[in-house]
Amino acid sequence: MNSSERKDYDIFIIGGGINGAGIARDGAGRGYSVALAEMNDFASGTSSASTKLFHGGLRYLEFFKFKLVREALIEREVLLKASPHISWPMRFVLPLNPEMRFERDTPTSRLLVRLMPWMKGRRPTWLIRLGLFLYDFLGRRNILIGTAAVDLKKNQVGAPLQDKYSKAYEYSDCWVEDSRLTLLNIIDAQQRGAKIYARTKVMSAVQQRGLWKIELKDEKENTFYCRAKLLINAGGPWVEDVIQIVSQLQSKEKVRLFRGSHIVTRKLYEHEKCYFFQGKDGRILFVIPYEEDFTLIGTTDAEHNSLSVKPKCSDAEIDYIIAFANIYFKKNISRDDIIWTYSGIRPLYDDGTISVSAATRDYVVKPNSSAGAPILNIFGGKITTYRKLAESVLEEIDQIMCNTTDPWTADAPLPGGEISIEGVIKLREDLAVQLPFLDEFTIRRLIRQYGTQCASIFSNINSVEDLSDYFGHGLFAHEIDWAIANEWVRSAEDFLWRRSKLGLRLNQSQVRCLENYIKSFVVNM
Ligand code: FAD
Repeated sequence: MNSSERKDYDIFIIGGGINGAGIARDGAGRGYSVALAEMNDFASGTSSASTKLFHGGLRYLEFFKFKLVREALIEREVLLKASPHISWPMRFVLPLNPEMRFERDTPTSRLLVRLMPWMKGRRPTWLIRLGLFLYDFLGRRNILIGTAAVDLKKNQVGAPLQDKYSKAYEYSDCWVEDSRLTLLNIIDAQQRGAKIYARTKVMSAVQQRGLWKIELKDEKENTFYCRAKLLINAGGPWVEDVIQIVSQLQSKEKVRLFRGSHIVTRKLYEHEKCYFFQGKDGRILFVIPYEEDFTLIGTTDAEHNSLSVKPKCSDAEIDYIIAFANIYFKKNISRDDIIWTYSGIRPLYDDGTISVSAATRDYVVKPNSSAGAPILNIFGGKITTYRKLAESVLEEIDQIMCNTTDPWTADAPLPGGEISIEGVIKLREDLAVQLPFLDEFTIRRLIRQYGTQCASIFSNINSVEDLSDYFGHGLFAHEIDWAIANEWVRSAEDFLWRRSKLGLRLNQSQVRCLENYIKSFVVNM
């Protein structure tokens, strides 16, 4: 881009995580001129490192966060319908363990200590049932099934667990592929007219005659400028940096950074349900069947002091997760079972609470006009509530712009998701007929990645030769070419870990071939 080129927008968004992406999509769909800049790959921050659940957050009920839980629970089905290829319902088995305790500083634990001191902080079974009743009740379910009691001695979900566990409850939440959700919002925003600046860092933003003058630097170190009426700071963990360094604003708002890590092991059991384990310290652990041949386990909460240190699952976190899971599983997990680990940073709004568990998971939108031109700073949030967050940000934007627009995203499918939930099976069957030379796993993967878009991506493919170079595990150059042209893929890592999870399967030499192939393209771009 020519360094003197200038663009004017209504709204300029800093950050291509789920929150920035969701706001860009919503804003563009309402007719605003929108631009978004992401300094790395989309979802390369926290939005690819979550537990990947559309969930209400059962444990937040113990903090009496009813509004947050209710909003998130209702969102589950809205988002399922909008993206049935990348998200699906899941059942969570919560084994009853009378030894498990509350966290000390929850409102529920304080109340129970007063009312039932003999429990000594242990969670009574009736309270778990009450929590699950509330979870079902607050959630306004049409698709997801309600809570049920499970006899672990008779049901297959009891088989991997130690014999001392005999009863459990089973409830519903949903899976979502977080990085693809982010990408689909970016793609949709672009299709609705938003300008997307990938791998472009916002270096500064200064107010000039009531507008923001924004300085950007792209991956080739070119500097250029945009102007916007309104700035949105969706920098996630970098939200404070953006406030202080980029826009040089005086602000009292603070963010607290906590690292959450997961381990991925070889598949630990055969059935398709997840576990929700309670710990002795009040914490919880999810165990989730992952990418067909693996199991995902997490998460931790560790203070993360510096953004210059890339989050990484520490040895202590690995030990913690393994020890926690081994309280429940019959066959002990060890480090040898681990295939991969990943970590992300929770950017929690600093509301003055001492413990990380108690710190609010809710999103907080803070407008600031002290520089003259307005900026909205976004703190916290969840993958599950990104669409609602975008709606409330658009409400603020309407007010600032003295405009009236209507919410529209609740019924609008994301790219590839223009089918019913049941339609996904038919889509898979059709693709298997269209591409009979691909194995079943690859057909399932392609539908999980692209949904209805598969029809156009593979429309000219009549034989395996048409798919061009082969990289292994069902991955051909045809798909990579498409991802480079349509999904901003610029490295093997982008594709293997954020567009797909084939990083779990390709060996080092296959990764090298893929990297070289992508580089040969990118050099000429
Ligand atoms: P990010 O995804 O980090 O995006 C911010 C982006 O801003 C980054 O990509 C960054 O590169 C970019 N940026 C920063 N500064 C600049 C700049 N100057 N110029 C250009 N770009 C810039 N939520 C759920 O609903 N369900 C879950 O199961 C769940 N599990 C979680 C588990 C863990 C361990 C963690 C850490 C979080 C989890 N969450 C979950 C919460 C959820 O992942 C986050 O709230 C969400 O991803 C935050 O998105 P974001 O867009 O605010 O931040």
